[in-house]
Amino acid sequence: MNEKNIINQIKERENKGALIVISAPSGAGKTTLCHMLIKELPSAEFSISVTSRQPRAGEVDGRDYVFVNEEDFKKRVKEGRMLEWAQVHGNYYGTSKKFVETRLNKGLYVILDIDVQGGLQVKEKFPEAILIFVLPPSMEELKNRLKNRKQDSSGEIKKRLKNSYEEMNYLSKYDYLVINDNLTEALKDIKAIIRADKLKYKK
Ligand code: 5GP
Repeated sequence: MNEKNIINQIKERENKGALIVISAPSGAGKTTLCHMLIKELPSAEFSISVTSRQPRAGEVDGRDYVFVNEEDFKKRVKEGRMLEWAQVHGNYYGTSKKFVETRLNKGLYVILDIDVQGGLQVKEKFPEAILIFVLPPSMEELKNRLKNRKQDSSGEIKKRLKNSYEEMNYLSKYDYLVINDNLTEALKDIKAIIRADKLKYKK
């Protein structure tokens, strides 16, 4: 390989964005971690998913999610506008293909806070996507976090805990596992993974 080619390859690598999938059981701190990550990585953007779930108090349409009704969601799927989609805890969630593609073309990192079904669909379409699974230090801790955030009813918490066990079956399909015992440390781990991926030569 001549010098020009090598320099071009290095430049290309420096300017290339990537898809970063972060999945975790509800309450593992994934959303907080994603927001911290965006703040620290100027070249990263959070993918705003489309969902048929009702907005929670404080959630803003177009900032936290694009909130649509079930019919609209299914129409988007039919029209091929979703990069991936899944039914999670009884609601539909999906990633907009256009949202992701425009950011990737600009060389940005796109952070996808999505469930394991979605994570696997992304990996199939983008084998170079980085799949990170985040777990709390214990299931007891997860239960406490879900209770303490006072966001969900006890029925909803039970459903989410049950789903968590099912999600963990997909752990082996993920590239990395981060234990979120402490947010600062977990964030450092995620940043190290992203940095290492950037430096990886053989993809
Ligand atoms: P929540 O209702 O708590 O905001 O999210 C519930 C679950 O749906 C979380 O595990 C979250 O990661 C997942 N989720 C959010 N957006 C998407 C998406 O676009 N696609 C998929 N597959 N899952 C999503």
